[in-house]
Amino acid sequence: MSDKKVITRFAPSPTGFMHVGSVRTALFAWLWAKKNNGTFILRIEDTDKEREVEGSIDHIKNSLQWLGLDWDQGPYLQSERLDVYKKYAQILVDKGYAYPDPYTEDEVGEFRNKAELAKKPFLYREHRPKEFSVWDGAKPLRFKVPTVKSFKWNDLVYGDLSAGPEALDDFILIKSNGYPTYNFAHIVDDIEMKVTHVMRGEEFISSTPKFLSVYEALDIAPPFYATLPVILGPDGKKKLSKRDGVKDLLQYKDEGYLPDAFINFLALLGWNPGDDREIFSRADLIKAFNISRIQKSDAQMNARKLDWMNKEHLKLLPPEEIKNKIFECLPENMRNPKLVPIILERISKWGDVKEMVEAGELDFFIQAPKFSKEKLLYKDFLPEAIAKNLQLAIESLEQIDVNNFTEEEVKRNLMQITNTLSSRGELLHPVRFALSGKNKSPDPFIIASILGKNETLSRLQKAI
Ligand code: GLU
Repeated sequence: MSDKKVITRFAPSPTGFMHVGSVRTALFAWLWAKKNNGTFILRIEDTDKEREVEGSIDHIKNSLQWLGLDWDQGPYLQSERLDVYKKYAQILVDKGYAYPDPYTEDEVGEFRNKAELAKKPFLYREHRPKEFSVWDGAKPLRFKVPTVKSFKWNDLVYGDLSAGPEALDDFILIKSNGYPTYNFAHIVDDIEMKVTHVMRGEEFISSTPKFLSVYEALDIAPPFYATLPVILGPDGKKKLSKRDGVKDLLQYKDEGYLPDAFINFLALLGWNPGDDREIFSRADLIKAFNISRIQKSDAQMNARKLDWMNKEHLKLLPPEEIKNKIFECLPENMRNPKLVPIILERISKWGDVKEMVEAGELDFFIQAPKFSKEKLLYKDFLPEAIAKNLQLAIESLEQIDVNNFTEEEVKRNLMQITNTLSSRGELLHPVRFALSGKNKSPDPFIIASILGKNETLSRLQKAI
């Protein structure tokens, strides 16, 4: 690899929201720049005004900012650089490698039909005019492929690739509305911005011979190409797509995922460190990342893995930060440090706290539960038997010092009673209900310790 300063770019088209696939490309380009003390450029490829979706440029910037993928240069907007593309187009015209398209749409349509009838692929270059007229911008400017030949090139991920001459054609460089095509504009920009490594999806491999022939015509060396592996949807079959319900990236932000966890997750979608490490801080990721370990085989979106990873990252946060974040998601009357550990154990992202609150899982904390007698009963045990067990619980818990009413103490005392019973549920089910009013709640020992001795005994008494 050359010793030039590494320059990478993320070059999204503003045609909709960012999702896991697009931002993974941004991350890899960012990581490679950071790793090499290089430069990461953000470039908005907004030359197709018809496909542009309002608000997408802000969405792109907000998404990158959320993840901390800060750009060193840009955002450049291609629509503001039309004169640069014209300059390069003129160079090609002057060299005899570009010409204004002399045909009407109907005429091209006819060529196409003829090729179809002859069962041959339509190639514009077969209809190239003998003489080129002057380019005044009124007609599309086409590239004149300098040499029709096979191309071989090396992709840093996919290895040696090649394509025959049929992959080359006289494509449009500048449209009649003055805008360049993607095929041309991105090359000009990569040259002007001195990009050393181009990372993008495999959908661009088939056009690479075209790109290489433009570099050849300009007599400029192309950058390194690193093609990123496909991300499959959760079914592991189809490419992840908007139809698969792929989410707007900022939705993950709203759901309370941590940027560092999300980046960690994205990095492993197509890259691995070569050992079994899975949890990386941002700094570790930059250190460990290498293009040579980007895999060729498909990666797969797995929302459960993301949740697991987010939880691992949550647990690494300073306790004070965890507490503050959880409190932000709780109504004021629930903001008690005692609740923090039980909440932390049951969530994988901040948004889950709100769900616990909405599901009433934490209601026990602010008010004694209301429930019907039937709920308290267990299997076919008679009410008298249940009441007797609750009485035993009260007597046993009364022995614990009020200042030492911990989860462990409560558990030890109640378990001693269950040892004398035919089943644990016969005691623990009614205790859980008496304390929380719910089937699904944190376990009764924790609840009791959070409620404290007096409140616990009072709820048990009420249940009897
Ligand atoms: N604008 C292209 C896209 O969004 C960028 C491809 C590239 O990185 O060259 O797919």
